[in-house]
Amino acid sequence: MTLAAETNKITFFSTQPYDKVFFNKYNEFGFELDFYETQLNQQTVILIENASIVCVFVNDIVNEAVIKQLAEKNVKIIALRCAGFNNVDLEAAKKYNLKVCRVPAYSPQAVAEHAMAMILTLNRKTHKAYNRVREQNFSLNGLLGFDLFGKTIGIIGTGNIGKAFAKIALGFGCKVLAYDIVTNPEMEKDGVEFVSLETIFKSGDIISLHCPLNEQTKHIINEKSIALMEEHVMIINTSRGGLIETASVIEGLKEGKIGYLGIDVYEQEEKLFFKDLSEDIIQDDAIQRLMSFPNVLVTAHQAFFTTEALTQIALVTFGNIKSLLSENDIENKRALLV
Ligand code: NAD
Repeated sequence: MTLAAETNKITFFSTQPYDKVFFNKYNEFGFELDFYETQLNQQTVILIENASIVCVFVNDIVNEAVIKQLAEKNVKIIALRCAGFNNVDLEAAKKYNLKVCRVPAYSPQAVAEHAMAMILTLNRKTHKAYNRVREQNFSLNGLLGFDLFGKTIGIIGTGNIGKAFAKIALGFGCKVLAYDIVTNPEMEKDGVEFVSLETIFKSGDIISLHCPLNEQTKHIINEKSIALMEEHVMIINTSRGGLIETASVIEGLKEGKIGYLGIDVYEQEEKLFFKDLSEDIIQDDAIQRLMSFPNVLVTAHQAFFTTEALTQIALVTFGNIKSLLSENDIENKRALLV
């Protein structure tokens, strides 16, 4: 693939101020960078001017209709600056001869550590304690937690993030069960026990989701799986919102079956996350209901958000684009989707 110098431009969608900082800082190949705050969708493709590359994030819409428009605009590369790619129609990209790349592992630790931060916050209620002492309320009533040591943590998906999370959980002295479509002997040596999905649901005091969103995993947490779980189970989702059937989880919380819920991702997050809506009337009743529970912690897709991760994201994204432009290939096969 040879591209004229004037088309060596990357149009970024869904950008935040920190994206500009990191991508400008690590632009060692001298690409021309065009940043838009707006999401990529059928209406916003028009913003692309003489750029052969678009750089997108988790909530950009990259379906067949958008891909067709991108091809008409002469875009050659869709560079995802994230790991998950459930928002991209890869078949359509193939059909229209577009290359698609991603950042397969920028900082698995960032997400794994955030999952553990959610567990600790929900358990020890440090968010409530912080506010309470500022009001000079030094009472402990309502802040009772439990020892993590000796508890059973069930992990669904043991790729880069699930593996890093398992190490943290083992460090806390937890019994770690895992389910994945492939078992990992190295993790077994470390003390992780690979079991069936049903065993995870039945035995986990805490269940943490680290698998991708696909046809097999959509709504993996649903009415039936919740029915199998321990009373007062804690569910943590730092992966993708679509893994959880929101209505069933709300029911589980109302019944007290789910004792704690920590979510960094939400099925309808594209209308909410990464925006300041503090003056708006939120129309999404499900997220409002979720946020009204005292035992639910919502963060707005921030698990990846560390300096180390943003540095890696910028470096790997530029490296992927450079390799595709010069060699039409990427050495790290996990980075090249089409
Ligand atoms: P990965 O590709 O390294 O690992 C995914 C694992 O899931 C693999 O081991 C795979 O075998 C397993 N898997 C696939 N299908 C499965 C199924 N049906 N049941 C059980 N396991 C299955 O990915 P990763 O880097 O560990 O990331 C995991 C997910 O985390 C991503 O898909 C992404 O959606 C999410 N993520 C979220 C954030 C955030 O900021 N919240 C950041 C990065 C990634």
